[in-house]
Amino acid sequence: MIERLAPVLDALPAPVRVFVRDDDAGWEDGRLLALLDVTQRAGVAIDLAAIPAALGPALAAELCARIDGAPSLVAVHQHGLQHLNHQPAGRKCEFGDARSAAVQREDLARGRTLLAGWLGARVQPWFTPPWNRCSADTAVLLASLGFQALSRDRGAAPVQQALPELPVDIDWSRHWREGGADAVADAFAQALRARAADGAALGLMLHHGVMADEELRALAAILAVAAEHPRLRWRGMRELLGSPATDPQGRRESAHSLEPGMTLNF
Ligand SMILES: [Zn+2]
Repeated sequence: MIERLAPVLDALPAPVRVFVRDDDAGWEDGRLLALLDVTQRAGVAIDLAAIPAALGPALAAELCARIDGAPSLVAVHQHGLQHLNHQPAGRKCEFGDARSAAVQREDLARGRTLLAGWLGARVQPWFTPPWNRCSADTAVLLASLGFQALSRDRGAAPVQQALPELPVDIDWSRHWREGGADAVADAFAQALRARAADGAALGLMLHHGVMADEELRALAAILAVAAEHPRLRWRGMRELLGSPATDPQGRRESAHSLEPGMTLNF
C-alpha cells in the first residue's frame, strides 16, 4: 500500500495538514486500545469521537490516563448521546429532522454532562454527529450550548448559522471493504492531491470497532512512512480549530493544563 502512496507524497506541491478522527469510542474497547497503541507509537495525534452513554468506568479511566500521559496525542469529543437512529425512514440519524429542537437539545446536553462526568475538562468542545449527519437545527443548538465546532463529511449540506467545521475526507472502513489496502491508499492519494490544492486540512475517519488486525497493521505501515513525511503535518483537531474560546471567567484555558475531575468549561 505504502508503495502506492510514497510517490504521491513526494510529488505533493504543498504541505497538507492531516488529522485522524476515530469514531464510536465506548464500543469495542479492546479494538480502541489496540488502535491507540498504533497511533501513539507512531507519534500521531488521534481525536476520538466518544458515545457518552456507551462509556464505562474502565474505558474512561484508560482514556484519562492516556490523555494525561500524552495530551498532544489523544483527545476526546462528543459523538451523539447513544448512537441511536431516531428517523422513522430514510438515512439513519440520531440528530435528524424527525425530532424537535427541544428534544435534541436535551440529548445534546445530557451527552455533554455524561462525558464530562467521565473525563472532566479533558473533553474537547467539538461534536461529531453519529453517521456524520445532523439537521440544521442541531448546529444552532450546538452553538447555543457552547460547542465550538462540528465535524461531518466533506461536502455535507451546509448548516445555517454554521459552527466552524472540520470535515473528514476518507472513510477508511468503506474503502477497505471495497478494495482493501490498495483502495485505502488510492483514496488517501486522491484526497491528498485535493487538499494540497485547496489548502484545507485532510480528515481520515476510522472506526476501530470494525478494524481487523490486518487493518491496524496496514495503518501502522502507512504511519511508519507518512508520520514523518516532510509534506504532511499531522495535527490534532484542537490545533486545527484553535484553542477553545475564553471561558465564562474570562481565562483562556489550555485543556492540557486542567486537573482531572474539573468540570467542563464550555
Ligand atoms: Zn459513529
